[in-house]
Amino acid sequence: MKKILVANRGEIALRVMKTARKMGIKTVAVFSTVDRNAPHVKYADEAVCVGEAPSNKSYLLGDKIIELAKSLNVDGIHPGYGFLSENAEFAEKVEQNNITWIGPGSKAIRIMGSKLAAKDAVKDYDIPMVPGIDEAITDPERAKRIAAEIGFPILIKASAGGGGKGMRIVEQEKDLEDQMKRAISEAESAFGDGSVFIEKYIGSPRHIEIQVLSDTWGNYLHLFERECSIQRRHQKVVEEAPSVVLNEELRQKMGEAAVKVAKACDYVGAGTVEFLLDENKNFYFLEMNTRLQVEHPVTELITGIDLVEQQIRVARGEVLKFSQQDLKISGHAVELRVYAEDPLEDFMPSVGTLEKYRGPSGEGVRLDDGFEEGMEVPIYYDPMLAKLITYGKSREEAIQRMLQAIKDYEVKGVSTTLPFGKFVFEHEAFRSGNFDTHFVKKYYSAEKLQSQTEEEARLAAIIAIRQYLEDREQLRLPNN
Ligand code: ADP
Ligand code: ADP
Ligand code: MG
Repeated sequence: MKKILVANRGEIALRVMKTARKMGIKTVAVFSTVDRNAPHVKYADEAVCVGEAPSNKSYLLGDKIIELAKSLNVDGIHPGYGFLSENAEFAEKVEQNNITWIGPGSKAIRIMGSKLAAKDAVKDYDIPMVPGIDEAITDPERAKRIAAEIGFPILIKASAGGGGKGMRIVEQEKDLEDQMKRAISEAESAFGDGSVFIEKYIGSPRHIEIQVLSDTWGNYLHLFERECSIQRRHQKVVEEAPSVVLNEELRQKMGEAAVKVAKACDYVGAGTVEFLLDENKNFYFLEMNTRLQVEHPVTELITGIDLVEQQIRVARGEVLKFSQQDLKISGHAVELRVYAEDPLEDFMPSVGTLEKYRGPSGEGVRLDDGFEEGMEVPIYYDPMLAKLITYGKSREEAIQRMLQAIKDYEVKGVSTTLPFGKFVFEHEAFRSGNFDTHFVKKYYSAEKLQSQTEEEARLAAIIAIRQYLEDREQLRLPNN
């Protein structure tokens, strides 16, 4: 493989290209008109415009991207995450055009892209599932009977959902019919598939997922877990590896279950099997994401394995060079997703110009970003500016480095989740490890963040005044 096209933008496009370059592979960037001067475009060896800003006129134009790839003699396409990464048809077309698809086979993408098909595929493999039904449901009366059996609250979920979208919690029977209708019509308009199903709503779960990796020679491995319980709108904002709640035994059990899920769909490459873990440490299969995940760096830091490199090697048909026994967890890593969102305004996207933008650096600090000072944050795409990841020998060290990195990170012009990150990493519940997916709902409010920020500003002012007075005192001394 001599040349790879990255069918994506922003931080993930850059992240993939960096590994390609490290491996001596040339890179091609695609970009929309608003991204013309973006870092991923400048970094690539070659870059081509695919179209207008809206993603359905650029980054989602699979056929056009394949044509461009052919005209530039590209050997492989890496889709990153989001956009075309979980589009089975695109994966197939890439291969039909004699270009290597750097991702799992279209069969695995298709099965796991539907939460219902996924449940169906793994049901013979002895994988624990969240109580509920494993088929689409439209009849409200039947839904009521099922809900009564599993007990309220329940969760109505869109089979084709993703990115935290397409879920509705129902607390009591009288709301079920109405909520179900809404869920179906929402699923139809958002995902083009109105299938919804019912799951028991687990009260105090942690989101724990397992990174899996397999080659085309039938070798399957897992690279341990990631804890992703700190979420807003059912979407992750803070992740870490390893999780503080898993012991060796449970880690091994969940790892083995994840490998079984991967085998159930003949998975090839890097993938993630997501589970919920309840208060009694029972785990349940949620879904599988058939792509590189946003939070993959925490796994890279604790295992020393470059997952993009492995994706490329596997796509080239190489055999994995290590076995399960070779893999060890070393140290601890935490990640904060730095979104251009206002944590004081219910995490509303905050677009604008990056009047000031300077990322942190230093020992144990990794910053995957795709923006520069002076750039606009476009309204057309996911508002994530960067992934900030820190590593330490211990969890405490990783957290301390994260707090320092957040402090050193300078962004002006848009609001970001940096202050929210600080709130989380300083919070007693996070520090102690005693938290679940309701962290934000339970502990966070805009007022708390505001008063914390004001208190710090007040203390900083006191320190500054004291320092000023001391300096003045010292300056006077020689005159006395
Ligand atoms: P991860 O599980 O990798 O942390 P997220 O759920 O945060 O993933 O999604 C990663 C990216 O993919 C984001 O840009 C998100 O908006 C996008 N995404 C994932 N699934 C979907 C979907 N079904 N529809 C739209 N966007 C999605
Ligand atoms: P998505 O495809 O949007 O990522 P998931 O099924 O992975 O959807 O769920 C996303 C998040 O929603 C989980 O991490 C968890 O916080 C919450 N969630 C999903 N299913 C349940 C459930 N049955 N009970 C409680 N919380 C759930
Ligand atoms: Mg998920």
